[in-house]
Amino acid sequence: MPMQNLVMFKELGLSDEILLAIQRSDFTVPTPIQEKTIPQIFLGHDLLIEAQTGSGKTACFAWPILQQLSANKQEDNNSIQALILTPTRELALQVSGALYRFGEFLTSKVSVLTVIGGESIAQQTLTLASGVDIVVATPGRLLDLIGQNLLSLSALKFLVLDEADKILDLGFAAELDLVLKEISGVRQNLFFSATYPDKVLDIVKRISAAPLHLKIDDVTPIVENIFQRVIQVNKDNRGMLLRHLIKEEKWRNALVFVSSKVAAHNLCEKLKKSGVNAGTIHGDLSQPERNKALSDFKERRIDFLVATDVAARGIDINKLSLVINFDLPRSPADYIHRIGRTGRAGEIGLAVSFIGHEDQEHFYLIEKRAQIKLDREEVLGFELTGDAPERVRGVEAVKGKRKSKKDKARELSLNQINKA
Ligand code: AMP
Repeated sequence: MPMQNLVMFKELGLSDEILLAIQRSDFTVPTPIQEKTIPQIFLGHDLLIEAQTGSGKTACFAWPILQQLSANKQEDNNSIQALILTPTRELALQVSGALYRFGEFLTSKVSVLTVIGGESIAQQTLTLASGVDIVVATPGRLLDLIGQNLLSLSALKFLVLDEADKILDLGFAAELDLVLKEISGVRQNLFFSATYPDKVLDIVKRISAAPLHLKIDDVTPIVENIFQRVIQVNKDNRGMLLRHLIKEEKWRNALVFVSSKVAAHNLCEKLKKSGVNAGTIHGDLSQPERNKALSDFKERRIDFLVATDVAARGIDINKLSLVINFDLPRSPADYIHRIGRTGRAGEIGLAVSFIGHEDQEHFYLIEKRAQIKLDREEVLGFELTGDAPERVRGVEAVKGKRKSKKDKARELSLNQINKA
């Protein structure tokens, strides 16, 4: 394993207390986005940062905010200093977790509260009353608390919109609008977003006069350290194929994406029936159930987590080696998001997509947008059969193609993954 280079972190302006937390992690060097943004954050600029999940973006804002709030801590100050807004409860919990970990060695402690629906409002109210420095929240529950005068955003020093595009995509525009109306005064605004559609830029313009736009050009595209396989199979055979591959290729641990809650439930039940240790995470589960599914998966009490996009958005599972697109995602951006959960921070990951006749055209579009071109493969005994609908006819499978150079590389990476 490469040596940790703490000097590189120190050069970004990070204090010894933050460095202690970094020392305890397995981070070797700052990620490109950390190198570029952290010094700018310390200079106090408003920033618009183009960042994907998996780029190390949480630390970009967590380290400077913790460091500055701790250094300027006034014990008698009871107002909230930093607000971090996220699109999902899972991402909120993950960000809070990172803040707790990174803040562990601060001499003047910085308190963090996660304000999300599905968890006890009474407990959140109680904690607020005792004074909180950083609130990590999804827009809905935050508004509840503001509406009841239990929380005020009038003295914010930092506002972070994490995954701003997702906040808007998930239909929180109106709620975000209301939250922003509650914020006044001078503060530093940091916007993190994977994409910059007009709706994001409109929000940015409303709350920040001239943010610096940081784009990380020199990052290896997320797909480069992810080995992508596309397996052609009839829709009805996907469940059997998955069980076959789990057995034959010794898949141990994977996030399996499906397109609906019903599909998540059904696939999970089928896997369990065949002896696979599986669980689900989807929108119909209560928050405690979702938290449990996630921690069961993270701590390897379950090996396969069947998830819908919304439930899985933003969740970070360290060193996930395999992501399976049992159903294709709706958009090319979601494809990148899904497979971005594997191959994190320099690790090799594997992403496998099952495609049937009806998915061919859609998968071409995904490839085009993601600027990739992938071989189609078929697994013996599970070949794609039957007629393709008229408009996708003519698609050629790489049938019978075995042990090409790529196949061998794939086998090699799989073996490495299985050993890890
Ligand atoms: P994020 O993009 O914030 O979701 O971070 C993705 C993953 O990268 C998390 O598991 C972080 O703990 C990890 N990470 C953050 N900074 C670094 C770093 N400098 N080196 C290696 N991994 C990192």
